[in-house]
Amino acid sequence: MAKLDQRRINFVKSLPIRVRAEVLYHFLKEGISNRKIEQIIDALNEEDGWQAWSVIHFFGFDGNSKARYPKLTLKKIEESLMNVNVEDLEEFHLANHDDGEISRKITFTENDGKDVLRTIKARQGQYKLRKALLQNYRSKCALCSINDPKLLITSHIKTWSKSSTEERVNPSNSILLCKLHDGLFEYGYISLTDDYIILYSPNFNFEGQGIATNITFSKPLSDYPSPLFLKEHRLKHGYE
Ligand SMILES: [Zn+2]
Repeated sequence: MAKLDQRRINFVKSLPIRVRAEVLYHFLKEGISNRKIEQIIDALNEEDGWQAWSVIHFFGFDGNSKARYPKLTLKKIEESLMNVNVEDLEEFHLANHDDGEISRKITFTENDGKDVLRTIKARQGQYKLRKALLQNYRSKCALCSINDPKLLITSHIKTWSKSSTEERVNPSNSILLCKLHDGLFEYGYISLTDDYIILYSPNFNFEGQGIATNITFSKPLSDYPSPLFLKEHRLKHGYE
């Protein structure tokens, strides 16, 4: 998802909700180009496309969203925009983080063209979750000493696609892991007991891959991984 800088964010915030809604309507429903949108809407006065582009990207849409919502009405968008927390979105854009991983998951599962703001709501939820996990785990992988934020992922215990909307943002359904340990956990090469003892799959050659098996789980400050989700993970990957 494209990040907006402060200047563009301020511009979007300066527009009345009605105008923001009109931009989204023309783009998401009618598939009109950024430049054309600026010609149609009086409140927008440039014609290089960046004003309309800023509105579109501020709300989490991009070229893939063009003409993707044929049933949309202007009223529906306006109502949705009333419920969006603009300050949260602003923080999201200005935050220095890479949400590539989560973006891909969300794009696959949420962007079905039904609820116009579901994608951005989901992104906001995941951003807040990540913030909470970084705090809980002191910005460090729960299984090793990696602490570079770009290498840290909110790893879902119960698979993202199987989780409900609430479960996806529940910090007890996530562990902060580095990319390696996220991968090992996702494929079930490692799992956890209810007491947070690490389980190693006999189907994976840890030694051959040069991966340590003498690691321990660093407990978070709060929101411990839930035994309920951990059990599901163990069952799914044949540990019980
Ligand atoms: Zn790690």
